[in-house]
Amino acid sequence: MNKKQEDKMLKEESEWKRELTPEQYHILREKGTERPFTGKYYQTKEQGIYKCSACGNELFSSDTKYDSKTGWPSFYEPISEGSLEFKPDDSMGMKRVEVICGRCGSHLGHVFDDGPKPTGKRFCINSACLNMDKNKGPDKK
Ligand code: FE
Repeated sequence: MNKKQEDKMLKEESEWKRELTPEQYHILREKGTERPFTGKYYQTKEQGIYKCSACGNELFSSDTKYDSKTGWPSFYEPISEGSLEFKPDDSMGMKRVEVICGRCGSHLGHVFDDGPKPTGKRFCINSACLNMDKNKGPDKK
C-alpha cells in the first residue's frame, strides 16, 4: 500500500450514517445538493480554513473564496494538490465534473470553468460538506 492509500479514510456506509447528520449524509454520501442560499457558508467572508465535514481533510482557504452569486460557497482553487479528486458526472442530463474529498471520497460539489482569475475555475461546494476552522487560515500562517 503506498503512502497515498494509507492517508485515505475508508469507512462503512453504516459508520458514516451514524456519524453524520441526515442532511450531511444525504449530500456527502448520496451526492445530494443543498438548496442555494440556505447553507451556512455561502455569505461567509471571515478568514479560515474550510475542512471536509466528514473527515476533517483541509480543502480550501478563505483567501480563494469569492461570491459567485450562485448561493453556494465558491472557491477558485483547492488548498493543495491532492486535497480534492474529480469524477465525470453525466447525471441530471448535464456534463459536469464532480468534486470529491481526496481523503474520504465524500461528495462535495462540482467544478466549473466560469470562475475568476487566476485559475478560471469555480469550485461550487455545499456548505453542509464544510467545517470552517477560524483558528487556521491565511492571516495566521
Ligand atoms: Fe473527507
